[in-house]
Amino acid sequence: MTDKIIRVNMTDLTSTIEDVPEAWAGHGGRGLTSTIVAAEVEPTCHPLGPKNKIVIAPGLLSGTVAANSGRLSIGGKSPLTGTIKEANAGGTGAQFMAKAGVKALIIEGMPEGDAWYSLAVTPEGVTISEETETLGKGNFEAIEILEKRLEGKQAIILTGPAGEMKMAAANVSVKDPNGGIRSSGRGGLGAVLGSKRVKFISINPKDGKVAIARPEDFKKANKEFAKALAAHPVTQALGQYGTNVLVNIINESGGLPTKNFTQGQFAGHDAISGETMADTITERGGKVKHNCHPGCVIQCSQVYNDAEGNKLTSGFEYESIWAMGADCCVDNLDHIAEADRIMDDLGIDSIETSVAMAVAMEAGVLEFGDGEEACRILREEIGKGTPLGRIIGNGTGSVGATFGITRVPTVKNQGIPAYDPRAIKGIGITYATSTQGADHTMGYTIATNILNVGGQVDPLTKEGQVELSRNLQIATAAIDSTGMCLFIAFAALDDEKCLPALIDLINARFDINLNGDDVVNLGKYILKTEREFNTRAGFTSVDDRLPEFFYNESLPPHNVVFDFTDKEIDSFWNF
Ligand code: SF4
Repeated sequence: MTDKIIRVNMTDLTSTIEDVPEAWAGHGGRGLTSTIVAAEVEPTCHPLGPKNKIVIAPGLLSGTVAANSGRLSIGGKSPLTGTIKEANAGGTGAQFMAKAGVKALIIEGMPEGDAWYSLAVTPEGVTISEETETLGKGNFEAIEILEKRLEGKQAIILTGPAGEMKMAAANVSVKDPNGGIRSSGRGGLGAVLGSKRVKFISINPKDGKVAIARPEDFKKANKEFAKALAAHPVTQALGQYGTNVLVNIINESGGLPTKNFTQGQFAGHDAISGETMADTITERGGKVKHNCHPGCVIQCSQVYNDAEGNKLTSGFEYESIWAMGADCCVDNLDHIAEADRIMDDLGIDSIETSVAMAVAMEAGVLEFGDGEEACRILREEIGKGTPLGRIIGNGTGSVGATFGITRVPTVKNQGIPAYDPRAIKGIGITYATSTQGADHTMGYTIATNILNVGGQVDPLTKEGQVELSRNLQIATAAIDSTGMCLFIAFAALDDEKCLPALIDLINARFDINLNGDDVVNLGKYILKTEREFNTRAGFTSVDDRLPEFFYNESLPPHNVVFDFTDKEIDSFWNF
């Protein structure tokens, strides 16, 4: 099947099928969403206005049998950060979209009136229909309704109640194969989808298949690739304890942000750790290993049941558990799981919302440690769009500004995730310089700073951190274009056969001849394209800074501050 671009105009409710321009042909995933957003979106436009666009693209290897290749990229201008944004997630969206021969779906314009719509994507194009039944419903109920209504195998991508209310922390939710939810979490792209009044997108690939130019070479490369993934100790730990294996590790390092970033260790760490979580899951008959899309050989996801053995949440990630746990001082895993479920149901970013909740705790809106009240606020205030709910649902910066708090952990207005940049300095460079606001996944220096993957760089000294963050941000931008889950990076950094096998997969898929330098150049091109968009939107190096308190308040137990000069941070872009 020849790949195509589908363009949906929500102003006049029409769609067109376009050939893939030559300049876009070599791109997929984040590389493609950022290329299109940079080319077609006015950088100074209002993110929730008609000039913004949502671009959805599977990775270069999505839809094939390549292990872990099912990530779907969603891009646009972020209402949270004002920068360019790409957020990717698992689920079946990427695989089905690639099989339908859709290289990118571009949604532009904005309808007049109050009606909402759905988009049904097939290999033949897209059908736009008015939607009423799922409006105002939580994501889980909406998915249940759609599973009964839609015929054949369907991927479902939707915006939840938070996106309908255009909250800046709203995510785009993607159904996983078991009716669970994966989230394109960061940056409020759910609000952009909501601004276009698109409630959901379904994708039915029918009998579509992704063509492989050299099938035998592809098969051989995939075998080598999957073998490297399965053999790495970090990926094995991810399969055993999920990403939550990190609670005890990061606590031990003194970099677990606790009580709104005032401490680097949490007294209740054991109660919320991956080890406790795995034991609880086993006791209650949940699932320790689970994948967010078919073909994942790592299986970091899991199904967490309540005390009665009923499913409470799935895809229970370290960053979500840290944010509602250590950062809000909640040491009860059931309360955190309940909060996670509510946030999935509302379609709101669990990192942004929980970091915002910790700032609200500092402001005295609720007590630190009060998980039940946090759940009530999520359900009753954010869920119902009360004034308090909208303040928190608009993110960490919104809460800080409303209550006059100065300890507001954000960069470019996006909440800082689960690793304190004073005790793990490399990640501070990533937060500061990322084109998309504070985001650990943009250049995950934890791998080398803490896990000793791809070498070792002392987390507490400045030496080597800028270079480490730069190399990882370049590599990540390239990986985000393939549709690969970022957790392949551990094997790619340590196993000399892994990265060549990944490149062989791309070469065999398209019958091309990329080498390692081409991959690095792709990563550099993506970062520069994104930065150029931000520059045109009005961002300067002054925006590449951490909040003042990281420079002034020392973090126990190491009693360290973030001590990079502006010049040192800016040297990140010397490439
Ligand atoms: S490792 Fe985890 S996030 Fe990655 S594809 Fe597998 S289940 Fe999804």
